[in-house]
Amino acid sequence: MKYVIIRDDDTNALMPVEYLERLYRPFIQRNLPVNLAVIPNVSTQASYAPGRLEKFLIAYRGNEKGCVPIGTNAELLRYLRCFPQYNFVQHGSRHEFVGNHYEFDHDDRAEIARRLDDGIKFFEQAGLGRPRGFVAPYDQLSRVSMEEVAKRFEVVSTGWFELGRIPPAWWPKYAVKKMSGAAHWRVGNTTLLSHPGCHLSYHRSYSLMLQEIERSIESRTLTVLVTHWWEYFRDGRADDAFIDVLHRTADYLASREYLKVVSFNDVADRKVALN
Ligand SMILES: [Zn+2]
Repeated sequence: MKYVIIRDDDTNALMPVEYLERLYRPFIQRNLPVNLAVIPNVSTQASYAPGRLEKFLIAYRGNEKGCVPIGTNAELLRYLRCFPQYNFVQHGSRHEFVGNHYEFDHDDRAEIARRLDDGIKFFEQAGLGRPRGFVAPYDQLSRVSMEEVAKRFEVVSTGWFELGRIPPAWWPKYAVKKMSGAAHWRVGNTTLLSHPGCHLSYHRSYSLMLQEIERSIESRTLTVLVTHWWEYFRDGRADDAFIDVLHRTADYLASREYLKVVSFNDVADRKVALN
């Protein structure tokens, strides 16, 4: 059996519900779990570069100021609660820079802990329950962040792992993982998942995308497929060709008997073989 996790990043209080509905209707109809990495308290100033607002603020019209908790978008939450196929993990806290660093790519332990706990609080206030999984903005976690995240979450999904960014106490396990060539590993109560890059991205070739996804899934036991909802609606218009690739991916995932689409919570419950 091969396992697949769909991870869609950047759901936030300032997005309209229609985007998710359009993208994931075929997944819901086929009863395939979709994991949304939700920003708990999105910053209205979130930028990927100075003066360049993040594309996940595509629908933000400037009416709100500061940060906006996920619980304030009642329409989005009502929709998400209708479909048990949606699962939620915490994506950062405000998804903003801290000084010159990505939100969790620095060593200020108190600041890291405060942001993680704030995020958990906003999840709970929104009725999403306590998140069991964590995704850092840009997949960037310092060693201190890794420690603090592991204290609070059962699953971490990121791009890859490197010695300089994991606590020394984990090094022996990391060495074993490295030598065995395993994609994913466990330390204590936390499962650490890597992913093969964003196959589902508008930067990639649409005609080759599904082929590459299939190849990627065939090459390991558990594959995390990462995408971003706003990439399908760049410049305020739906990219129909790209959306079609996503929907054909749903067809493919649902039609292979040896494939099982699972959630991060299934990983936390130890229902999924890792390697
Ligand atoms: Zn993000």
